[in-house]
Amino acid sequence: MMNSSMNLVDIASKYILLQPSRKALKGKCPFHKDETTSLLIIPQSNVFKCFGCGAEGGPMEFLMRIENKNRTKVIADIAEKTFPQ
Ligand SMILES: [Zn+2]
Repeated sequence: MMNSSMNLVDIASKYILLQPSRKALKGKCPFHKDETTSLLIIPQSNVFKCFGCGAEGGPMEFLMRIENKNRTKVIADIAEKTFPQ
């Protein structure tokens, strides 16, 4: 599963409220105690960056952090959802 085949905005919006901001979306960072909206998501690049705690990456990094899983587990879970037995 490549980052490019997952839509970060779709994934992140399941966990946090995203607000439009110029060419990006912003929201409260789920990775630290965010009182403002430090998390920026750039849909065009499919990446996120937090200006509070420094978290950054693509859809895979977002899922690994928010679900506290390693890459292998995230991929296995996606496969299970995509191809239920
Ligand atoms: Zn943060």
